[in-house]
Amino acid sequence: GDAIPEQLLAGLNQPQREAVEHRGPALLIVAGAGSGKTRVLTHRIAGLLATREAWPSQILAITFTNKAAAEMRERVEQLVGEESRGMWIRTFHSACVRILRREAEEFGFKDSFTIYDSGDVRALLKRLIKERGADIQGLTPGSVAARISNAKNELHDVDSWARTASLENPLDAAFLELWRDYDRELRRANAFDFDDLISQTVFLLRAFPRVAAQYRKRFRHILVDEYQDTNAAQYALIRELTQPVTRAELPDLRADLPGASLTVVGDSDQSIYAFRGADIRNITDFERDFHGARTILLEQNYRSTQNILSAANAVIGNNFDRRAKNLWTDSGDGAKIIGFTGYSGHDEAQFVADEIVELTSAGMSYSDIAVFYRTNAQTRALEEVLIRTAVPYKVIGGTKFYERAEIKDAMAYLITVANPDDALSLRRIMNVPKRGIGPATEAALQAHADQHQITLRDAMRRVDEIALGPKVAAAIKDLAALLDELSARPEADPGEILRELMSRSGYTDQLRRSPDPQDAARLENVEELVAVTREYRRQNPGGNLIDFLTETSLVAAADELDDSGGQVSLMTLHTAKGLEFDAVFITGIEEELMPHRMAAMEPGGEAEERRLFYVGITRARQRLHLSLAMTRAQFGQVNPAAPSRYLEEIPAELIDWRTPPTTMRATSSQRAVGRWRDLPRESFVTGYRDAPKALPKGPKREFANTITEVRDNSGMVLEPGDRIRHKDFGEGRVQAVTGVDKKRVAEVLFDGAGRKRLLIKIAPIEKL
Ligand code: ATP
Ligand code: MG
Repeated sequence: GDAIPEQLLAGLNQPQREAVEHRGPALLIVAGAGSGKTRVLTHRIAGLLATREAWPSQILAITFTNKAAAEMRERVEQLVGEESRGMWIRTFHSACVRILRREAEEFGFKDSFTIYDSGDVRALLKRLIKERGADIQGLTPGSVAARISNAKNELHDVDSWARTASLENPLDAAFLELWRDYDRELRRANAFDFDDLISQTVFLLRAFPRVAAQYRKRFRHILVDEYQDTNAAQYALIRELTQPVTRAELPDLRADLPGASLTVVGDSDQSIYAFRGADIRNITDFERDFHGARTILLEQNYRSTQNILSAANAVIGNNFDRRAKNLWTDSGDGAKIIGFTGYSGHDEAQFVADEIVELTSAGMSYSDIAVFYRTNAQTRALEEVLIRTAVPYKVIGGTKFYERAEIKDAMAYLITVANPDDALSLRRIMNVPKRGIGPATEAALQAHADQHQITLRDAMRRVDEIALGPKVAAAIKDLAALLDELSARPEADPGEILRELMSRSGYTDQLRRSPDPQDAARLENVEELVAVTREYRRQNPGGNLIDFLTETSLVAAADELDDSGGQVSLMTLHTAKGLEFDAVFITGIEEELMPHRMAAMEPGGEAEERRLFYVGITRARQRLHLSLAMTRAQFGQVNPAAPSRYLEEIPAELIDWRTPPTTMRATSSQRAVGRWRDLPRESFVTGYRDAPKALPKGPKREFANTITEVRDNSGMVLEPGDRIRHKDFGEGRVQAVTGVDKKRVAEVLFDGAGRKRLLIKIAPIEKL
């Protein structure tokens, strides 16, 4: 090929440059956070294209999220122009879906298969466990799902797993039966779960060498980001795809082809998915597994200030069994890390909100700010305070749009149209809205299906063969007819299909007529989904229903990031991987949460939790805030919380504590008890709204819920000049009112508390 254009190399340091220029069978780049690993991958792809060493179609790049894939594609396009079309830049899952759909026929299943998410999987398991009744006491949908997932990630199927298990153990035997049923149901429904996508692709490639050879011949360059988080199945997939291709396999080849050139980048300090089977050994054994591999280290960090980096280095330095790294930056010390200890989670949230307001008034935009937490449950307090402070925010992951009941209903309708065999979705909508098809009728349909070896949908079509009341039978026939009519139009605009489904099934009508105010919001959500499908068709002309469903079922948590809107991003530490923000808040840095109680009990769990903390710290470019609370509400109880052991690992001079945690060296139970007595009274009065007036007497004591009551001031009319009284801020004068309806915001100058922005609908205010 030609030489790599200088402008592709200009923005790179020496080792980065070597990595982009390296040619050979395999390249491993191991380096700490923010050292430009992802950037090197992008430039390497651009280099291969610019020199014409590779066609776009010969490149397979694997990223961790669809968002990362989109970003990488965009960057490559910026570097080399339109030429880059046709590349596969995808997540493991989406690459595998693509292969499975293409090869479905060969493999003996239909290409219209649906993909079950974890909610679907649990729903199915719940039904199976219930059907089997007492036999399998002690098996919960969650635990069974996790076991099946682990096994599939290890490339086991039911039979291979059975050989490794001890079947004298009744629990194992019951589990095995359940798994068998589960897989049978999936196949019957023409569906795969997430783990199947990878493992079935591996099985497919192994079982059909000619198919495998086609893909090996095609992909000459394979690049994998975040390699430290690959599990056994993903590793096996890479091994399959990088084997040589021989003329014996593909007679039309002119000569044998060597295996694809493989580039992987990773950081074993950021391995945070061991619980999903990720195996760091995939990195440490790379040189052994891929002969002649070259390893390049990167040490300069381009993301964070020295203070942030020093904190990260100090924390991760406490993990044993790691290759010591020496990350440095020449971007200067930067601001100190800010620390805060709140009285409660709510108090901590108020700190976060206040800091955000300060950062944004100093010119930072909301979208450059992120708030991280260990568990989704922590968002409630944060959301509440952010709403009250009128800080625009977006929760990434958690109760995602696609997890809302009405959206799942609408999606189930679409899935039923696309894949008539999918009984799970069909069951979900059968009586939604209510059409008198109760559990007994459903059971009769299922029995008929089982008896005649037909699908549930077929049984609905043949409802005349079942003895049912005329009204119910008619309802079933109507529904089947509607679904069949739309199934017969596979290439129609998915937005149009959805609109027809929602109106002709009576779904929207039922919401519209409902007196429940929540149903109005549900209707809005359904309409939002129609808008999403319409938008999809606009962006992907000709994209059909199956394409749309594939896309939405693969929307990973991090993909919902929308940086256009100017919103603060809230997400778990796991979701934060690979991302960067100017300002980062890590909240809830307490024992029990970080390390998480459950994780800390696993072997190696404590070290993995530390890596998670390290991932969080290293997302920050300029500003880092570390916070915790002295009490934490969980499961309806308020318990004392103790500062995380990881906090002690950060050199004290790096942190500027607004309110310091106390008695750091005591054990957590001593701390829990001791803190109440040792702290000066003032420590509790942080100036934040929900600091209680009196101290609770001791640990574990429950006290009044600190959450403000739900209120609705939607009808309150406020105008500039009006005087109001706020529950906590006292009296003040309205300066301006902006926004409409539920989102009306009043800017109020309080006599004592200064200027605040309040969401009128819910603020605890009255007009004077
Ligand atoms: P992580 O481990 O968190 O995934 P990473 O190693 O993939 O991090 P990148 O995201 O590629 O790091 O780079 C971090 C930041 O540093 C990005 O904003 C990137 O553009 C910038 N960067 C990387 N290398 C250079 C360089 N040589 N010159 C200037 N900026 C750079
Ligand atoms: Mg990266």
